[in-house]
Amino acid sequence: MAFESLSDRLQKTFKNITGKGKLTEKNMNDMLREVRMSLLEADVNYGVVKDFIARVKEKAMGTEVMTSLNPGQMVVKIVHDEIVDLLGTQDAPLNYKAMGLTTIMMVGLQGTGKTTASAKIANVIKKKQSRNPLLVACDVIRPAAIEQLKTLGETIGVEVFSLGVETKALETAQKAMAYAQEKGYDTVIFDTAGRLHIDEELMQELQDIKAYVHPDDILLTVDAMTGQDIVNVANSFHEQLDVTGLVLTKLDGDSRGGGILSVRAITNVPVKFVGLGEKIEDLDVFHPDRMADRILG
Ligand code: GDP
Repeated sequence: MAFESLSDRLQKTFKNITGKGKLTEKNMNDMLREVRMSLLEADVNYGVVKDFIARVKEKAMGTEVMTSLNPGQMVVKIVHDEIVDLLGTQDAPLNYKAMGLTTIMMVGLQGTGKTTASAKIANVIKKKQSRNPLLVACDVIRPAAIEQLKTLGETIGVEVFSLGVETKALETAQKAMAYAQEKGYDTVIFDTAGRLHIDEELMQELQDIKAYVHPDDILLTVDAMTGQDIVNVANSFHEQLDVTGLVLTKLDGDSRGGGILSVRAITNVPVKFVGLGEKIEDLDVFHPDRMADRILG
């Protein structure tokens, strides 16, 4: 599971410092050095770590020692709060329209888990939020993607709209909108094509669909196993499409987790969901405070 070694290391560091009755400048600097090393080893972006440590230092110096906490605990609390800040202080729910059809566009590189996430989200909003979603297969590049979405749709009892691989993605999206209105669906989730690399053709196709659909949410799936490159990919998509939310997939994998901590901080796009496995139920709504607790133990 992501963050295991980061979590272990931070906990050891914290234990060390909270055990000390008095906090000297040396103790604190030692501790901050350890925190810094732990984050870098977990593959967190260098600039993000640098800013993080600077903020912790500034707060620790500027804060009166709280009476209820010993100085070590106080510094631990500051680090905790800063990690929550990195992950986003508030939950970021989907942007449902008050009236009319809500549209969600899923984007991301091939293999990141976009199709799976489309179905997982349809399942969650149907079951937990009483929505009536329609899934749309706009990934017409990969015939297998359409079949995969249909199979997933059957499993969760959500209709999948597809016009096959012969129809262009934009036309499929247009017809799907009309279909969803006619059938009285309240939410449409578009699974779009991904490529192994970002290219102009992909972005153009996504921009065309965006221009027609006016998505209430554009969710970018990013694979936690990608490491630092996650940040470049997210930046490229965000620059071209104004992404409104991230779906971090494969958090169950054996990654160091650093990319995840960096991506929100650098793009400033909130994480809305996390994927925790291949099964349809393996999706959680993202809560920054709970994730911080998991990292900090
Ligand atoms: P797409 O090309 O982006 O649409 O990716 P897919 O949805 O086809 O997923 C690619 C592979 O990743 C599939 O084998 C999925 O089962 C797997 N996958 C997707 N999400 C997760 C996740 O959260 N955890 C794990 N372990 N596997 C995932």
